[in-house]
Amino acid sequence: MSDLKDIKDLIDVIVVGAGNAALCAAISAHEHGAKVLILEAAPEESRGGNSRFTGGAYRFAYDGIEDLQQICTDMTDQEVNDVDYGTYTEAQYFDDMFELTKFRTDPDLCEILIKNSLETAKWVSQQGVKLRPGLGRQAFKINGKFKFWGGLALHIWGGGEELMGALYKNAEERGISILYETPALSLIQDGDKVCGVNIMHQGKQIALPSKTVILACGGFESNPQMRAQYLGKNWDVAKVRGTEFNMGAGLKMAIDIGAQPHGNWSGCHSVAWDVNAPAYGDLDIGDQFQKHNYPFGIIVNAKGERYVDEGANFHSHTYAKYGGMILQQPDMNVWQIFDNKVTNLLRSEYRIRRVTKVEANTIEELAEKLEGVNPVTAVNTIKAFNAACRTDIDFNPNVHDGRCTEGLEINKSNWANPIDEAPFHAYHVTTGVTFTFGGIKVTNDAQVEHQFNGAISGLYAAGEMVGGLFFDNYASGTGLMSGAVFGRIAGRSAANAAQQE
Ligand SMILES: Cc1cc2nc3c(=O)[nH]c(=O)nc-3n(C[C@H](O)[C@H](O)[C@H](O)COP(=O)(O)OP(=O)(O)OC[C@H]3O[C@@H](n4cnc5c(N)ncnc54)[C@H](O)[C@@H]3O)c2cc1C
Repeated sequence: MSDLKDIKDLIDVIVVGAGNAALCAAISAHEHGAKVLILEAAPEESRGGNSRFTGGAYRFAYDGIEDLQQICTDMTDQEVNDVDYGTYTEAQYFDDMFELTKFRTDPDLCEILIKNSLETAKWVSQQGVKLRPGLGRQAFKINGKFKFWGGLALHIWGGGEELMGALYKNAEERGISILYETPALSLIQDGDKVCGVNIMHQGKQIALPSKTVILACGGFESNPQMRAQYLGKNWDVAKVRGTEFNMGAGLKMAIDIGAQPHGNWSGCHSVAWDVNAPAYGDLDIGDQFQKHNYPFGIIVNAKGERYVDEGANFHSHTYAKYGGMILQQPDMNVWQIFDNKVTNLLRSEYRIRRVTKVEANTIEELAEKLEGVNPVTAVNTIKAFNAACRTDIDFNPNVHDGRCTEGLEINKSNWANPIDEAPFHAYHVTTGVTFTFGGIKVTNDAQVEHQFNGAISGLYAAGEMVGGLFFDNYASGTGLMSGAVFGRIAGRSAANAAQQE
């Protein structure tokens, strides 16, 4: 739907945004008896926010394959017998969140996220979202058996496109209305209580009353002015990996009525992204402009020098932080270099047609082809790297193998293979910003907190807008999970509050 004139009764819950967090909130509110309306700034064909661009990594705690089988009920015999899923316990999840955020994650929010993660994954699958083992992305085959590392055993089948397709279908079957091309402009209050939203609809500004409002309309990643303002120099020129609609409007309207800013406002999630990708995401490509397999190669900047430990950890622990470091390099772009030995380990994103890639049969020839790079230094860097590799230690992509370099100014800690087998191939990348970490503070019930006055009556938030979870870095697959956990809670809380009126 469609049309404002069809909305006759007072709405219990207005949900602002139509991404993963918003749809989970809307479905949850409806489950709890609320009459729900969703407002989406984008036209219908571009709906789905950042959530639609995702590859579908989904991080939740599990104690073994039995937990996974409750979510993925149709695992094949091969998926059951030929795969070592290990565990990803709540304790491991806490360790990852604490390590990656340097213990800065909000402990209450982090606990809610992790302790609800398995239950929420089950709930999401019951809403029609299909999850499958993420073989090849988070597990490599060693001695005939796939072994999972780093959590993320199940991915959303078909990525963001299928995730959002399933959630929209669910909402539609529930009769939840969505108004497209209808941005929320500001919140309406009656005294301290939020009681509706001012919207832009078909060229008119309209005041739309409701008993409660859930803001789930993303961070400020799409807004170059706010990126420069809060993230700093050069962030205005970064490419945006996903939606062009997350302009920080929800954050602004909440803060305008006194919401408490929370979390890492100078931080964001960003990755290595094809240098020729468009300014904003392209739904035909989804997340495939990303280039996440640098732990199996080296990265050089325009000077031809390495500047980071490519093998410090699994990519899922470093990719969200290393993306931003590219903006600090000369000309704000770098090259990832690999040799033939690891070609089979590279993910599908390295084989798309729209990839900025060069290939050569010698290191010298490759270095000449690296646009913008000093070729002499690049060759010297590769030779010095090769000589420093501890080839006496076995290579194993499934574990921190300790196959490091020694004696370099910046050593590589794991997976250090000499780059010595032709053909050599390299990929040109810059920074692609995914989402911003700064947000607003919410209570354990996902109600928005006021700076001076407890929680704001009638106002809830979910998804990227919830500040405090991520600082400096991020554990892959947590964005969708956080949206689902807090969206589900926000929906329940808002529906209950609406019923009490
Ligand atoms: C390329 C890419 C790959 C990713 N891969 C993964 C992954 O594999 N796993 C993972 O967990 N996370 C991934 N993420 C991160 C993940 O997408 C986000 O963390 C998550 O989807 C955010 O969900 P959300 O609902 O908060 O925001 P969104 O999905 O962005 O939804 C926000 C919605 O609000 C709308 N909106 C904005 N302003 C207004 C307004 N004023 N009025 C009305 N509507 C408005 C927007 O149009 C949008 O539809 C990826 C992100 C990108 C870009």
